[in-house]
Amino acid sequence: WEQAPETSPVNERPVTEEPLVDSPRPIQIVLADEDNHKFELDTEALEKLLLQEEVRDLNVVVVSVAGAFRKGKSFLLDFMLRYMHNQQADWWLGEDDEPLTGFSWRGGCERETTGIQVWSKVFVVDKPDGSKVAVLLVDTQGAFDSQSTIKDCATVFALSTMTSSVQVSLCRWSDWVFSCLFTEYGRLALEEIYLKPFQSLMFLIRDWSYPYEHNYGLEGGKRFLEKRLEVKQNQHEELQTVRKHIHSCFSNIGCFLLPHPGLKVATNPMFDGRLKDIDGDFKEALGNLVPLLLAPENLVEKEIGGAKVTCRDLVEYFKAYIKIYQG
Ligand code: GDP
Ligand code: MG
Repeated sequence: WEQAPETSPVNERPVTEEPLVDSPRPIQIVLADEDNHKFELDTEALEKLLLQEEVRDLNVVVVSVAGAFRKGKSFLLDFMLRYMHNQQADWWLGEDDEPLTGFSWRGGCERETTGIQVWSKVFVVDKPDGSKVAVLLVDTQGAFDSQSTIKDCATVFALSTMTSSVQVSLCRWSDWVFSCLFTEYGRLALEEIYLKPFQSLMFLIRDWSYPYEHNYGLEGGKRFLEKRLEVKQNQHEELQTVRKHIHSCFSNIGCFLLPHPGLKVATNPMFDGRLKDIDGDFKEALGNLVPLLLAPENLVEKEIGGAKVTCRDLVEYFKAYIKIYQG
């Protein structure tokens, strides 16, 4: 990446009085120290966010998008933000010419760090039953380029799983079976809390290019997943165990097949997220996917040991869980 030239429009934005810290942005709350394989929780940032008066006593919905770098997590999260901002409108996907903003915000550090980021605005949503919940959007990312980083990434994913109510695992179908989730992650993380099932896990398979085999969306994903999770006698024993394990750990497992977003999205360095550059099939699928996760009637409140968790409780769980891995 290079610094934008002086004349670029990026530098022509009016300078605002408002300090940058207060504009909505991703906040790093868990950071993996790659040299020492230690994890750090930014307790202060987490408390500042979750102990705000408007949200601290509300039950919390934690939607986390997890995956390796450059998989499209920020891209997806930016659309999730659009939904959260425009869900009252008939059309929430945005204008054809509107650049995407949010997690892909590049003002600060776009360093690729293994860790967990949360969006600095907690959304308050009215559920159809009249209750109010707080919605936290989370970005969980890790590197998979060496044995040691795989272990770090497994730890970060485990932390994210323990603290989220819905985990969206973004991957390509080709690296699916051997992804972090199915190997180290299964062993390392789930041992600790084997008997306390997690909530929802949604596999999001990007660049799906076999719609004639399994259709895009949730139904196709369901059939794809059933095939993939089938335990067969002739399988490697480890794989069999992991497959059984996955079912015993999550109360709800889904899979969604997402089409390729088109060449502009995948390869054009000038692409800034505007809808007109995105393939129609992708937009349609996105239009189905995001409300499945975030529509008021579909929001899944975080539960631990069968009890709902408030924003205030979540801070304490983060502190407790990080200790498991700091040892
Ligand atoms: P992150 O590192 O996981 O947050 O990835 P980004 O959201 O920053 O996206 C990385 C690159 O992948 C960008 O150039 C996106 O335009 C592109 N991208 C986003 N979603 C998809 C997708 O579903 N398929 C493909 N092929 N590219 C995508
Ligand atoms: Mg990102």
